[in-house]
Amino acid sequence: MKTHYKAIVIGGGITGAAIIYHLTKMGWSEVALIERRELTAGSTWHAAASNNQLHDITNMARLQTYTINSFEMIEKETGQSCGIHKNGGIYIATTDARADQLLVMAAKAKFLGCTFDPITKEKALEMNPLLDLSDAKALYYTPHENHVDPNGATHAFAKGARNRGADIIRYNAVTGLTQLENGNWKVVTEKGVLTAEHVVNAAGLWAREVGRLAGVELPVHPLEHQYFVTEAIPAVEALVDEIPSVHDNDKEYYLRQEGPGLLFGAYEKNGVHWAVEGTPLDFDTELLPDDLDRIEENYLAACERTPCLETAGVKSVINGPMIWSPDVQPVVGPVPELNNYWVAVGIMAGFSQSAGIGLVLAQWMVDGHPERDLFSIDVARFGPWVDTKYVMEKTAENYSSRFRIYFPYEEREAGRNQRTRPITDIQREQGAVMGAVVGWEYPKYFARNVSEKTPIYSFRRTNWFDAVGEECCALRTSVGLIDISAFSRFRISGEDASTWLDTLVTNTLPTEHGKSVLTPMVDVRGRIQGDFSLTRLEDNDFLLIGSGLAEEYHKRIFKDHHPNLNVSVKSLVNEWAGFNIAGPKSRDVLSTLVSSNVSNNAFAFMTGRWLTVAGLECYVLRVSYTGELGYEVYTKEGDQVRLYRALLQAGEAHNIRLVGGLALNSLRLEKGYGSWGLELTSDYTPYEADLGRFVKLNKGEFVGRDALKSLKNATENRLRLFEIDVDDADPVGGEPVYYEGHIVGEVTSGSFGHVVKKSLALVYVKAEFDQLGTDFLVEIIGNKFPARMLPIHPYDPEGLLLRT
Ligand SMILES: Cc1cc2nc3c(=O)[nH]c(=O)nc-3n(C[C@H](O)[C@H](O)[C@H](O)COP(=O)(O)OP(=O)(O)OC[C@H]3O[C@@H](n4cnc5c(N)ncnc54)[C@H](O)[C@@H]3O)c2cc1C
Repeated sequence: MKTHYKAIVIGGGITGAAIIYHLTKMGWSEVALIERRELTAGSTWHAAASNNQLHDITNMARLQTYTINSFEMIEKETGQSCGIHKNGGIYIATTDARADQLLVMAAKAKFLGCTFDPITKEKALEMNPLLDLSDAKALYYTPHENHVDPNGATHAFAKGARNRGADIIRYNAVTGLTQLENGNWKVVTEKGVLTAEHVVNAAGLWAREVGRLAGVELPVHPLEHQYFVTEAIPAVEALVDEIPSVHDNDKEYYLRQEGPGLLFGAYEKNGVHWAVEGTPLDFDTELLPDDLDRIEENYLAACERTPCLETAGVKSVINGPMIWSPDVQPVVGPVPELNNYWVAVGIMAGFSQSAGIGLVLAQWMVDGHPERDLFSIDVARFGPWVDTKYVMEKTAENYSSRFRIYFPYEEREAGRNQRTRPITDIQREQGAVMGAVVGWEYPKYFARNVSEKTPIYSFRRTNWFDAVGEECCALRTSVGLIDISAFSRFRISGEDASTWLDTLVTNTLPTEHGKSVLTPMVDVRGRIQGDFSLTRLEDNDFLLIGSGLAEEYHKRIFKDHHPNLNVSVKSLVNEWAGFNIAGPKSRDVLSTLVSSNVSNNAFAFMTGRWLTVAGLECYVLRVSYTGELGYEVYTKEGDQVRLYRALLQAGEAHNIRLVGGLALNSLRLEKGYGSWGLELTSDYTPYEADLGRFVKLNKGEFVGRDALKSLKNATENRLRLFEIDVDDADPVGGEPVYYEGHIVGEVTSGSFGHVVKKSLALVYVKAEFDQLGTDFLVEIIGNKFPARMLPIHPYDPEGLLLRT
């Protein structure tokens, strides 16, 4: 055993094995995988190991596609069998909503070149004669699914890594992790002390324990999960070909063939957390006592679908622990508060995702960034606001609704009120239907009557459509008030603050006190990392406002940017609360609450100042995400209620309207403004995102400048706004855009534009199809609707409303 490695991966389940393999494949051979027991000794050995390709998030579907295909690749490379069964999958819809969901999935499948086609009952029964499809409203088939032998697959990746130089060290638990002064990690193991430049926590069921060795609490928790394999069933034995996996998702179970029998597994309503106090360190390749009563309801539903299941004897029952994260997605990447401590944990569908995660994590470690945007699985999407209670509530909810449809804009009930402000209850009393973003409760829309109070979720327009429309129109004709407290805000100060910022963002820093600019931040490849409004408060004192979703993600970048400079970066998200008042009458509202002159000349667009508003100390910025004259007014959280009441009272004369997040989404789309995580992601450059005017290549050195120089005239995609002729459903993101039968773009977000009266979508179109007026088609819930490309800023294209 060597004593120093470039990287040590802790955990020899399918995830750790896939990571070590990809690290070696990318050229790091001085690496080791350390496993407490035998490889697969966590969740891996007992998995059903069935694999799906499709996923709601396109980049995750790409990652799963890679994983599914990787088993053949590694088998060929190493000669180690993965026991691959290419059985495909049949998806069954028994409700209209599920039928809509499958249409949406079918459209997304086209981005991946994946076959996911509607089939007739006859065709389905030809492939699986065991089914009763009397209640099926829609059926789809994909040939791309498979299941593998979990042991063979894990050993194949480990063998591949060993062949490329990695050490695979078994029966050696890691018991201590400390970062040394030189940045290396001291890795204490049962068999001795090692050092490594990087450590990767791939400890699956023990992810929490291995996190704590380095002082981090990871947001994951195991739950018990059961499946059983039946004795041989004559009807199964009589089959010529293996049946495709059965996806009867409304009933929360899965079913596939296993030899001469069937394998049935279920996500019951009352999932049981396991190892609440911590995963026992001596837990080996063990199972938990089975309790089939818990999954009886799911089983009975499966028997209705596959009647021969009912009389089959049970050959073996597996009740094993499975790890979950609060939003079901894996938790991957560098832990923000540590250096060179990586995680690949919370992976509940390890066989569908492991190789993809191994690949992207290896890219991240070796190249400094993964090839594609991974925000949806980035560990930095969580933060200190996540506590054990939240993790327990969300993991239980997600387990019991594993296959439930996640509708556009749907909010679920568990883990709510995690972060509230003093006005949260008042907003509810005022009819706010709340959502949660990074734990913060915020109004999505304001119900006007009882029937709007409970949102009815759908892929189509639904019961909040008119309420949101009224909010948009009221704001554009008079004034609206939007709670923007969830936006992130950083105070950046210190002797070197200007230098630090200037080398971080793409735009020139504002020179005068109180001046603001909009600026992207990019990585060394010139890909978008952030999009901010930046205001100079004093010489070396700045206010940086960005997406609340990305707060921890941005902190991680800030931490690594010129750490030797004298700069303090302070988050104000908890200390300050904020409101956006916007609309033609917003100045009138503000002026009644301040003694200073806020006329256009005195308080111009893209400036900010300290003002006493209704007797409260506030920082007020004249910026707007709605495209209207507007102000962001920030005050101390303790003064939030007083400011809120004062703004509403002053607005009474103008019928000020409370406006929620759904209306803000519609309003910003009417302006063609991108949003973090949707249009503004590391898949694109500022030039592609129509932010090129905020990139100043001549200002001096900044991160990504060299890359941007060469990308300026070589944009692969262009962000464009489309108008779509559709009347009962609007695009929400993920819809394909066609030109002459070919996919030429993907919708990143959409909404009805209630003021311009058009269904709108922001789309990244391949640059060669960037032609105004061309006839496109956009596929929404199975239908292709005519669509036209609009100028990117169709509403107030000159920006006069903002500036007057
Ligand atoms: C009943 C059941 C059925 C499933 N079916 C499927 C399925 O059909 N499809 C699918 O995709 N997924 C399925 N899963 C989920 C799948 O098993 C997991 O996603 C996957 O195994 C996770 O792998 P992992 O490597 O991340 O974690 P684990 O398998 O838990 O591996 C972690 C490893 O880390 C080691 N370790 C821990 N602490 C230390 C330490 N201090 N030092 C050294 N080593 C350490 C452990 O010994 C262990 O081997 C199923 C899970 C269960 C429970």
